[in-house]
Amino acid sequence: MTEDPQAQPMEFKAEVQQLLRILSHSLYKERDIFLRELISNASDALHRAQFTMLTNQDMLDADAELAIHIEADKDAGTLTVSDSGIGMTHDELIENLGTIAHSGAMAFLQTLEEGQKLDDIIGQFGVGFYAVFMVADEVRVTTRSYQQDAEAWTWISAGDSTYRLIPAEKEHRGTTVEIRLKEDAKEYASTWRLEQIVKMHSNYVSFPIYVGETVANQQTAIWRQPPSQVQEDDYKAFYKQLTMDVEDPLLHAHIVSDAPVEIHSVLYIPASRDQSMFRSRPDYGLKLYSRKVLIQEHNKELLPEYFRFVEGVVDSADVPLNVARETVQSNRTIGHIKRALRSRLVKALQELGDEKPDEYKRFWEAWGLFIKEGVASDFAGRDDLLPLLRFQTTKSEDELIALSAYVARMKEGQSSIYYILGDSLQSVQRSPHLDAFRANDLEVLYLVDPLDAFMVQSLREIEGKPLANVDDPDLELPKADSVEAEPSEPELGPEQFGKLIVRFRKVLGDRVAEVKESKVLKGSPCRLVSAESGPERDMQRVRRLLEENYETPAKILEINRGHPLIRDLATLNGRPSADALVDLSIEQLFENLLLLEGLLPNPAEMVPRIQSLLEQATSASAKSADG
Ligand code: ADP
Ligand code: MG
Repeated sequence: MTEDPQAQPMEFKAEVQQLLRILSHSLYKERDIFLRELISNASDALHRAQFTMLTNQDMLDADAELAIHIEADKDAGTLTVSDSGIGMTHDELIENLGTIAHSGAMAFLQTLEEGQKLDDIIGQFGVGFYAVFMVADEVRVTTRSYQQDAEAWTWISAGDSTYRLIPAEKEHRGTTVEIRLKEDAKEYASTWRLEQIVKMHSNYVSFPIYVGETVANQQTAIWRQPPSQVQEDDYKAFYKQLTMDVEDPLLHAHIVSDAPVEIHSVLYIPASRDQSMFRSRPDYGLKLYSRKVLIQEHNKELLPEYFRFVEGVVDSADVPLNVARETVQSNRTIGHIKRALRSRLVKALQELGDEKPDEYKRFWEAWGLFIKEGVASDFAGRDDLLPLLRFQTTKSEDELIALSAYVARMKEGQSSIYYILGDSLQSVQRSPHLDAFRANDLEVLYLVDPLDAFMVQSLREIEGKPLANVDDPDLELPKADSVEAEPSEPELGPEQFGKLIVRFRKVLGDRVAEVKESKVLKGSPCRLVSAESGPERDMQRVRRLLEENYETPAKILEINRGHPLIRDLATLNGRPSADALVDLSIEQLFENLLLLEGLLPNPAEMVPRIQSLLEQATSASAKSADG
């Protein structure tokens, strides 16, 4: 290769320069992964060559073996990784390794700052190639695109702030990465070390990786083996190489079927949501193969969207090779595979729930949100997702239970499944709506996740039992036999109570739709119920989440005639000296309810009123103590 002294150095973008500075000071133990990244790029390039070959007869070196070669020269302190993949043109070289496509560098640096480990994340931001500068003084990438008349070019950089491009001689298609190892990275010129790293990080790459003369990787398409022959550890190792996740997966499902559509698939549920998934992963979807040829990197049509956290591969000889270009929804084969995968996955999750509750709990905590999304959105598939749902309830605050457990212990005479919607566990636990349910020993589901309001829209009925919101003013509750007769309190007379209701109406004005006596309250002085019926009422909560300026319609205020606080207010009502106190108390009771319903935008505004109430209460008791 002759150097062209005319070749102008080009500048890396600032964030790439910063990335390179960090990489050149990386820890020794993180360095091994540079090889994984180079192999991963070579493997991508080979997959693309393989795919292109299916439709393009006119490729350079159409017969070349699809393989990766790693050669080390101990004396020279160099290392070469080459592939017979798709190669790059001059412009692609600049775009891919140079200046343009590196929005990922920024995101990578940020994630690094947040304390993620470099070797866990480097592959996920489209900057994996630069990992080579952890071990290299200088790197030369010589490449020739698969197009017959493509010219070869060499990209050269010392990992500082610039790179150069010079024309090159290269007979064959593909890419060669030549690395001049740093003084302290000479260990990577050892064949034994290289083989070890290949086995560790790249064992399942589906092309042979030659280290010197011998193939170092296993290259099994694990999904095409009979499940009985695959070891648990193989599944885990394959998952880690597939996703670059450092944790073991929570669950895998190996799906094999011959008719009516051929399917070989391994699906995984990642153990947690923290790392790879959302921030960093550019795209979700399953890897789609046809007879081991990778057709699509991120196919989104093979599972419903709410299963977008699932990782894995699907291989089917029946899939058309132009699947990426076709409107896939209309493809019947894909539709069939999708139904099969979905149902196997749901079944595997149900089994996990039945057999390993602890692991299922981890699943639910990480991914339960997506199942709720599925219940809310997948009308046809709703029923088999229901067994996957878990809830906290008034009788099970610490442990999550399934709907079937709720139904199994419903009270005699109880025909509905009760739920309460709210913004947090703390507020629903204190809700006055629960008075009557506690008194009658009835269990209530806590729905406190924003998604719950959506989900409950499609949960109108389960196993023939309707769902009922506890704030429904017309609910008829089955009476528990054990309920004690109410201790007889001195009744608040109708006239006095009527006057108090008038006072409430006057103070609250059109902030309430109506004020009336409650038939159900026990320990709480009052509650707010909606004037609207069922689904419409729950929709208000949904709209409040979605529409910035949505105002919940005024509610009905129900008052507990037997509550001591209400009795005292009725007594004070009409005494001119207590006017201010009564009004303040009514305001405060009302806002307490808004707070519990999650309808109070600025709770802090309560503070002056509470203070004033405290002053009046303390001064009253100070006076009575004096006297
Ligand atoms: P990523 O692989 O995530 O895209 P990298 O930094 O590893 O990010 O690589 C950047 C790009 O450089 C790749 O997307 C690819 O287009 C190109 N590239 C790297 N190595 C090769 C190779 N061996 N053959 C062809 N293209 C390559
Ligand atoms: Mg890469």
